[in-house]
Amino acid sequence: MTKFTDLGLDPKVLSAVSEAGYETPTPIQAGAIPPALQGRDVLGIAQTGTGKTASFVLPMITMLSKGRARARMPRSLVLAPTRELAAQVAENFDTYAKHTKLTKALLIGGVSFKEQDMLIDRGVDVLIATPGRLLDHFERGKLPLTGVQIMVVDEADRMLDMGFIPDIERIFQMTPFTRQTLFFSATMAPEIERITNTFLSNPVKIEVARAATTGENIEQGVIMFRASRKDKQASEKRALLRALIDAEGDALTNAIVFCNRKTEVDIVAKSLTKYGYDAAPIHGDLDQSQRTRTLESFREGKLRFLIASDVAARGLDVPSVSHVFNYDVPSHAEDYVHRIGRTGRAGRKGKTFMICVPHDEKNLADIETLVNRPIPRVDSPLLGAAPAQDAPADVAEVAEKPAPKSSSRSRSSSSRSKKTAPTPEALPKAAPAKQAEPRSDSRKPHSADKGRSGPVVGMGDHMPAFLTRTFKAPAD
Ligand code: AMP
Repeated sequence: MTKFTDLGLDPKVLSAVSEAGYETPTPIQAGAIPPALQGRDVLGIAQTGTGKTASFVLPMITMLSKGRARARMPRSLVLAPTRELAAQVAENFDTYAKHTKLTKALLIGGVSFKEQDMLIDRGVDVLIATPGRLLDHFERGKLPLTGVQIMVVDEADRMLDMGFIPDIERIFQMTPFTRQTLFFSATMAPEIERITNTFLSNPVKIEVARAATTGENIEQGVIMFRASRKDKQASEKRALLRALIDAEGDALTNAIVFCNRKTEVDIVAKSLTKYGYDAAPIHGDLDQSQRTRTLESFREGKLRFLIASDVAARGLDVPSVSHVFNYDVPSHAEDYVHRIGRTGRAGRKGKTFMICVPHDEKNLADIETLVNRPIPRVDSPLLGAAPAQDAPADVAEVAEKPAPKSSSRSRSSSSRSKKTAPTPEALPKAAPAKQAEPRSDSRKPHSADKGRSGPVVGMGDHMPAFLTRTFKAPAD
């Protein structure tokens, strides 16, 4: 088996790697580091979780250690699609370069130009940037890229999704023709292929298996969910999410819940919080300092549930996420691979559940085609239980866009009166999915079911399970 010491890395880098606790290079590291050190262009087809960040950071540090920084002339450039991902590369750089004197600047939005300009003026070895911010600096005339010897493009497929490809092409053209390029993408869409053909010179291609298609360490499941009524889909879906979470018990240490839309991210985060779950949202509309704080507390284990959109969460390295929930089926099949890749990282075990409503079945089929295997169907932990949904108060408050303070105050008296009803124990504590059987026990309907008490008059507390089932597909 290849060892880090076989790869030709600088001894200072090797000590930092061993201090970080890593002994054996991952396949992308073993494949990419030697050709990168020989000055070859590298095309790495790998997703996050495979150790790809170190596969470019380690050789970069080794190569840069041989020279010195020049004022205003960064010697290397790493482009990442999101601020979080760029910050993560910067953290990796700090970890592995700690025994060297190399310097870096992180050019991302949300940080003042002045601070960043000062760093660049002093001269940095490594510039880590998002494409938009880098071009902003360049257009201010403050950033010559003619000294760039090594350029890294990370998560190129995400850059493509975000519309950054023209920016990337521009940046390529601003750097010297003789630069070395290390280019990483989880997939090779035709547009990515075109870019690599244009800007990479005879690259060494390293492709590592997708964690999602081969990762036996990730247990996957999908719940085919049909709401009791179409207008109740949203609240019943939130109840299902809580039931799934509860059913996992202590096995769930922390989780990322992915939603397709930012508004949904906010709604789900607020709803979970309301039900006593420790949750916070992260998406592109939140300001940077809040995103950073949320992410930090999630990383440090202070926050248990991160509710996220794809863009915000792409590539985030949170080493020990026990669970990923796909609250929605992603509309781009590849996002499924990225989402579930947040768990089961670096060989750990992980578990993922996805909720699929009838409308999403086509997208589910696309995912199964992409990963080339069926995703096991899992029974809803609510199967047979009284259809659960958010309490009326929760729906009323949560489903709204954040209202101006004054109006929320004017609403508060009515919402308070609603809350005097016994607070719903969010849901019947769910049995593990596999054991869930239709139940006909005499569970007391919780307050969320109050609106339904009409139809069961005369039955006392007992509501037979069949009454709660929908047999006819609601019209779409
Ligand atoms: P990445 O694909 O760069 O996001 O890395 C995924 C995770 O793997 C990170 O938490 C790294 O710290 C970790 N990692 C990187 N290299 C190794 C290695 N050689 N052995 C074990 N874990 C690693």
